[in-house]
Amino acid sequence: MSKLVQGYEVVIGFETHAQLSTKSKIFSRASVAFGAEPNTQACAVDMALPGTLPVMNMGAVERAIEFGLAINAHIAERSIFARKNYFYPDLPKGYQISQFEIPVVQGGEVSFFLEEGKETVRKTVRLERAHLEEDAGKSLHEDSALGGGGQSGIDLNRAGTPLLEIVTQPDMRSSEEAVAYAKELHKIVTWIGICDGNMQEGSFRCDANVSVRKPGGELGTRREIKNLNSFKFMQQAIDYEVRWQIDQIEDGHKIQQATVLFNPDTGETRAMRTKEDAADYRYFPDPDLPPLVIGRDWVERVKGEMAELPRVMAERFVKDYALPEYDATQLTQSKAVAAYFEATAKACGQPKLASNWIMGEVSRRLNASEMAIEQAPVSAAQLAALIGRISDNTISNNAARQVFEGLWNKEGPYGSEGDVDALIEAKGLKQMNDTGELEKIIDDVLAANPKNVEEFKAGNAKALNGLVGPIMKASKGKANPGQVNALLMKKLG
Ligand code: ADP
Ligand code: MG
Repeated sequence: MSKLVQGYEVVIGFETHAQLSTKSKIFSRASVAFGAEPNTQACAVDMALPGTLPVMNMGAVERAIEFGLAINAHIAERSIFARKNYFYPDLPKGYQISQFEIPVVQGGEVSFFLEEGKETVRKTVRLERAHLEEDAGKSLHEDSALGGGGQSGIDLNRAGTPLLEIVTQPDMRSSEEAVAYAKELHKIVTWIGICDGNMQEGSFRCDANVSVRKPGGELGTRREIKNLNSFKFMQQAIDYEVRWQIDQIEDGHKIQQATVLFNPDTGETRAMRTKEDAADYRYFPDPDLPPLVIGRDWVERVKGEMAELPRVMAERFVKDYALPEYDATQLTQSKAVAAYFEATAKACGQPKLASNWIMGEVSRRLNASEMAIEQAPVSAAQLAALIGRISDNTISNNAARQVFEGLWNKEGPYGSEGDVDALIEAKGLKQMNDTGELEKIIDDVLAANPKNVEEFKAGNAKALNGLVGPIMKASKGKANPGQVNALLMKKLG
């Protein structure tokens, strides 16, 4: 049962434009490098000079194949390019070359974990399609109010940049789910290297189609929030849009299909234009491009050359390291995290402990300092050494956290910075493994707390806490809790 907002069910479908990581454009040899002076990277084809013809960039096709393989989709053996006709100053041809009826990637799915209340559930979003297309140019407006000349210019550097538009079925039921999907998709395209994932530069931008309905009813009319380029805005925009639509319906209005923009300054969405239908674009096959034919041998070759996919790696972690599925998924958030985990697990031979530490202390510290794992001041080898000292009972878990802090802050006695054993020594954190010394402490505590001893013997198990506390304190936290318990039980019968 999906969660309801004021009695309404939220329905979301995503269209994501991922800029493909080719060096040149999709139909010309001009560069796609970001940030060049306007119009220095637009060749005759991008400017749509008369008599020019598009030539397919096979690198872009290969990236589409890789994506299809990564999400278990069907890769069409024959797909068609179409002209999507519309007028806009930054589109000199008067049409965008895209794919319409027969896209290169068909079907497939993206699945991920989502926290729902106290539970972690696996969700799967079905993809409808992914198709190749070219980006348009950009209109630049000088703002006269800000001292500019009030003129507008066209920059065609972006025209012809290769895009993969990835379209889902309307499968998502909350803004949290939508953001989790977008993050997972972002992980996939960056992992396989078909897109650099840079959201600020617009390399990965999402359009969220949002509607609401009474549970079980027909799909409501959707509004499409364009160009969401941060996960934070994505969530805010969808939440605002959902509340706005519900208010409209509750006030007796009908939702009009529209394209809207999110304004991060006001936190509101606002209609940009009423939505055009596919029919308005007069799609037809582009006579300048032959059908795109992809033989099975090409797909097989690409498959053979692709690195291990995150979900395949996660399955391997479950099998080889006996990790829960959840851990395996978290640890395959990026190649770097996965590598850090594998190095730690192999070096210490305790995969579950390695996983706990990486998902716990390591990510907590990384998040707090907004660092990527590549920058972590504690190496996999150091973490493995630390875990080794927990499992051989040299230090307690609590002490290990203090050692970890020390490692992170690059503390250490002179010349031994980062050395786990030296830090344990310097901080005096070694557990008391000398039974004689510990027994003496226990005897003293028992003698000083006759009431607790009596209560415990009379059957009150809780009275034991009143003894363990003082023992740990007297040992300055160095006693091994397991050993304390065992000795206490022996002494109390
Ligand atoms: P277009 O390309 O014109 O925007 P599509 O039919 O390709 O239209 O749909 C675009 C996206 O909208 C898809 O991700 C689809 O899942 C989603 N979608 C379709 N209908 C609804 C709806 N009623 N509510 C929410 N999302 C929807
Ligand atoms: Mg759309």
